[in-house]
Amino acid sequence: METFLFNVFAVIFGAMIGSFLNVCICRLPREESIVFPGSHCPRCQQSIRFYDNIPIISYLLLGRKCRHCGAPISIQYPLVEGITALSSLFVFIQFGLSWSYLFYFAFVAALIAITVIDLYHQIIPDVISLPGIGVGLLASLVLPQITFLNSIFGILLGGGSLFLVATIYHWLFKREGMGGGDIKLLAMIGAFLGWKAVILTILLSSLIGSITGIAVMLLKGKDFKYAIPFGPFLSLGAVISLFYGGRIIHWYLDLNR
Ligand SMILES: [Zn+2]
Repeated sequence: METFLFNVFAVIFGAMIGSFLNVCICRLPREESIVFPGSHCPRCQQSIRFYDNIPIISYLLLGRKCRHCGAPISIQYPLVEGITALSSLFVFIQFGLSWSYLFYFAFVAALIAITVIDLYHQIIPDVISLPGIGVGLLASLVLPQITFLNSIFGILLGGGSLFLVATIYHWLFKREGMGGGDIKLLAMIGAFLGWKAVILTILLSSLIGSITGIAVMLLKGKDFKYAIPFGPFLSLGAVISLFYGGRIIHWYLDLNR
């Protein structure tokens, strides 16, 4: 019973953070404040009452429309709230009530915001990734899962390796392949998860990214150069590394014994 209540709390807390992420996703790329003004309808500017601002539930109760002007509410809102709520639950189940839960959930929440912003705008805001590197480094001082040195190596390898790939890509194809945003994102991933997870994240995201790229080409007949942002794949790779990294690395090492 107690476990169940804790899980419910993790879901509710996650949904609330998801609601905050929606604000960040809409405002950070426009360099607006995430505090002022309060939530308002993007069309009629009416401020949204607290009872119309309940994650997921308000979206359904309002019939997916603004109460005042009837403007449709984007599916992004309940989707981000739902995914963040589930992420909170999964991180909680994995790590229990601990600093690890708080730091890793903050990490996954940052990745969710980065993914959606990158999908919309093809940018990864420095205001998320750069403080994220600092928070990851701080976490290594508190968490039993990672040492400070491992976090430092993660930052260096994450920042360094992708910088190298980007430079080679630019030199070969004479155009921008991976942005500076991806490099800072991978440094943040390294700060939270350590250097081994950086390698795993690069492998996983390249694999999933290539499969998706080929699928898009086959389905839409588009050139592979048609820009698919890489941030969402790095984020997905990082989440897989967070939950299954240890198991994947052990399995791989066992294979090669
Ligand atoms: Zn409105």
